[in-house]
Amino acid sequence: MSAMIEAKNVNFAYRRGVPVLNDITCTVQDGEAVSLLGHNGSGKTTLSRLFMALDHPRSGQVRVDGVDIANFEPADLADKVGYVFQNPDLQLLGDTVYEEVAYGLENRKIPKAALDTQVREAVEAMGLTPYLEKYPRSLSFGQKRRLGVAAALALQPRTLILDEITNGQDEQEKMDMMRYLSGLQQEKHMTLILITHDMEIARKYTNHALVLHDGSLVYDGKTQDLFDGKRPIGEWGLQQPVLSRLNALFGVRAESPEGLCALLQCKLSPAERSASVNAGIEGGNRT
Ligand code: ADP
Repeated sequence: MSAMIEAKNVNFAYRRGVPVLNDITCTVQDGEAVSLLGHNGSGKTTLSRLFMALDHPRSGQVRVDGVDIANFEPADLADKVGYVFQNPDLQLLGDTVYEEVAYGLENRKIPKAALDTQVREAVEAMGLTPYLEKYPRSLSFGQKRRLGVAAALALQPRTLILDEITNGQDEQEKMDMMRYLSGLQQEKHMTLILITHDMEIARKYTNHALVLHDGSLVYDGKTQDLFDGKRPIGEWGLQQPVLSRLNALFGVRAESPEGLCALLQCKLSPAERSASVNAGIEGGNRT
């Protein structure tokens, strides 16, 4: 794997004398899924703005695909880094959902038919095909959020930074969206950076976690290890996902609820096992 985004000793402040990021050094590899975690105000959005050249470090360096982006603007990175803002209203520019998604593509010299296909595919992937001709601002909050993802996806960037995109989605929409994005990461090798407060999403869809606390990087490692019960994650404003909590409780390392059920059956005595089979819960097939 090669490095897609690298921060080296990055410091940043919006205002003089009020540091927001302190000496951040980290690497996001090409094609990996990373969660960027931390309490409100810890610096997640700020760091991701530096990754896409919306702001620049006061000192230190950000490299994207091996190139120092100190003199870049976001447009210079359009094919490398896409971004979905936390506030969906900030990105709405078109009169219809179709136009909204086509907007970023129109500056690229793409044949009309290919543009049309890219737009429709992205809209369909986010479940918005019935709303193609709707005025974007009339959509619900969750739909606007998915529209932001569709617009970013249509540009087919190599890296996608997603800031709290599962807010406002119901459980099904959240899972559909994450499954789709995770599929792109695994099949098309897209790099995903998820800024999220949802620890289940972080656990399930990312292997690598970065945790910011008051502007400092306090954890850079495997997501699974972050939740192993040995780190002061409460102090960092995070909670253990339910599955990790159960793993710690039972001393196992299951990767899914089904796996946990299967493992726990092994730990039951024969009498308990037969009781659980009678109760219909063996292998997680609760009836
Ligand atoms: P997070 O994304 O983790 O919630 P942010 O990066 O949004 O954190 O904010 C980090 C710190 O920077 C906070 O103290 C916040 O108040 C401050 N901050 C964010 N944006 C601005 C801005 N445009 N001007 C001044 N301070 C800001």
